[in-house]
Amino acid sequence: MIYSDILDRVEERPIHTLEVLPEGSKIACEGVVDWFLMEYIPNRGIDLTVEHLDLSDEGVTGWCMKLGPSEYIIQIHNDLTGDEYTSTILHELYHVYQHLNNLPQCETCAYLAEKQLLDKYQNHC
Ligand SMILES: [Zn+2]
Repeated sequence: MIYSDILDRVEERPIHTLEVLPEGSKIACEGVVDWFLMEYIPNRGIDLTVEHLDLSDEGVTGWCMKLGPSEYIIQIHNDLTGDEYTSTILHELYHVYQHLNNLPQCETCAYLAEKQLLDKYQNHC
């Protein structure tokens, strides 16, 4: 009984799709993105594109754009590594969360969230 309950739940789980650009990108973001989506957006299917590119002219390390109700693109500066990379992507994922929950795009909240999320993600793995 318990086993079939679990199966049912797995089938009902919405599918998140993740596309990472540029193709063959060596930057490993799947782990952190999957963790965030399953932890914070488990009930909605999201189409997410993560693009790594040179944002040094823009003066930011990343940003997030809403393309549709469940379609988002996150662009991340392609020179970040380690914790800096992980917290930047968590920050942008938190903006996706704000969009989905009709929360204001609050930067202070996103900076606070980014630190808490980094902690939580690192303790989870
Ligand atoms: Zn932000």
